Amino acid sequence: MKKAINRGIPYLILALLIFAMAAGLDGYMSIKIMRIVDHALDGNMGLFKKEAIEGFILAGILLPLYLLTSITRGLYINRSLVKSKIYYIESLFKKNINEFQEENNAKYLSALTNDMNNVEQKYLVGIYETGASFISFLVSFIVMASVSPLVLFIGIGISALSALLTMILGKPLQRHERQRSDLFEGYTSYIKEVLGAFQIIKANNLNDKVKKDFFKKSKDIQYKGYIIDKISTYISALQQFIMMMSIFLIFMISVYMAIKGSITAGAVILIVNNMEGMFFPLMNLTDIFPKIISVKSLFEKMDHSLKNHDDYEETLDLDDFKHSIDFKNVSFSYDDNEVLQNMDISIKKGEKYLIVGPSGGGKSTLLKLLRKYFNPTKGEILIDGKNLRDVKKESYFKNISNVEQQVFLFEDTVRNNITLYKDYSDEEINLAIERAGLSDFVKGLPNGLDTMIYDNGKNISGGERSRIAIARGLLANAKIIFLDEAFASLDSKVAQEIEKTLLSLEGVTVVNVSHVIFKETKDKYNKVFIVKNKAVV
Ligand code: ADP
Ligand code: MG
Repeated sequence: MKKAINRGIPYLILALLIFAMAAGLDGYMSIKIMRIVDHALDGNMGLFKKEAIEGFILAGILLPLYLLTSITRGLYINRSLVKSKIYYIESLFKKNINEFQEENNAKYLSALTNDMNNVEQKYLVGIYETGASFISFLVSFIVMASVSPLVLFIGIGISALSALLTMILGKPLQRHERQRSDLFEGYTSYIKEVLGAFQIIKANNLNDKVKKDFFKKSKDIQYKGYIIDKISTYISALQQFIMMMSIFLIFMISVYMAIKGSITAGAVILIVNNMEGMFFPLMNLTDIFPKIISVKSLFEKMDHSLKNHDDYEETLDLDDFKHSIDFKNVSFSYDDNEVLQNMDISIKKGEKYLIVGPSGGGKSTLLKLLRKYFNPTKGEILIDGKNLRDVKKESYFKNISNVEQQVFLFEDTVRNNITLYKDYSDEEINLAIERAGLSDFVKGLPNGLDTMIYDNGKNISGGERSRIAIARGLLANAKIIFLDEAFASLDSKVAQEIEKTLLSLEGVTVVNVSHVIFKETKDKYNKVFIVKNKAVV
């Protein structure tokens, strides 16, 4: 994560260079003001005029420089943020399917929203401000040193002391901020759950419970915000006070020195002007550092959620599926829970398999092994003699296709939903539609294949969805189609018709997991596996 963000460093350097130029000119401007005042008090009209004109020109140059400063600052933050978001999404899609599913989606959502906001506000802005504060401090330091080293050191002493004081004052605030961030994370995942369960909530009259939970969660966050605001108000009032006192103190010291004749009146103004230039950066740094450090744990959290814990290196490519998939003494456990034990089955190319068995018997698990979402805990699965564990996922996934109970449809044309954005000729597309039994459906659409699907296909029936998924597989030339309870929510007539379509696909291997069996189609399968008591019959 950090590496991705650091790709914005060239922009940071540019932004700080521009800032340094502006700050340098600013410092020079305060020297000019000192000279103007001193010449005026001396009654030296000639020099006063000369310095005043130069001062005006300087002020004119400062305007575009200030503009450039904020433009480059924005550029740096924008580029760094875009780079980190792209990195996050790229890494996310490198995750193994099973490991992605193990995590709560809210985590990814919150990473891309809340956490990225924090990265922007605390880290990117923080780094820039650190650089800028350092530059401002340096400029004021040099300017003041040129007038009176003594005042400079008194100034630094007072600034450092007050910065230390504000740092101590800010401690409780950090703790509350951290707690608020945790509350926000819980809030996001709660909102996501509630919106996802909208139907269940409405149908079961859970509105009151939701309202109560929601009220509590948002109240907690609001209350935390209130506490933070309250503490912030006290702290900033105190800071204001400390700052005023410090500046006043320095002012008195320099006026005293002016009366004694060791500095000029113009120097008093210069010192007061630059006192802020030293004071604010120091104060800023005490505010920024804890923020930058707090983002470190965010980076760790994000990196952790992106990491694949199983990093076994796959070395083999699989161009084609020619003969068979063979389970050799395969066992599989979720942690300590053994679900499948010493299985030996064989799946032959082009044949059709039905997998049945009691709920919780391990059918889906068996399918997940076949889909390479998981690897066996013991034993091995061979595909055309190659160990499936060693076959690269992308390479294997090209050969298989999955039909789920919930077929996802993109908000796009029927064509793109079938081709999944890859290039195929019309003949190929029509053939796949024909084989998947979708011809009548497509003919009935107002714009044929170019009809748009909205809202995840609200008005497309379950059976048509399954057929779209089958057409996707056929078009992509999948050698094996896996189905997990794909027809569970369809009425039995539609389910049987789709089954018949699948059974008629020549050369395509079909593995259909289902807990319902139809007499009419059962005998057409080459084999029926019954998965129960960890074994296959
Ligand atoms: P089926 O599809 O036959 O209903 P599953 O393969 O889904 O059965 O589940 C078999 C057993 O494995 C069940 O006891 C289930 O609780 C357990 N199981 C399934 N998925 C997981 C998982 N991701 N983590 C832990 N246990 C699981
Ligand atoms: Mg299942």
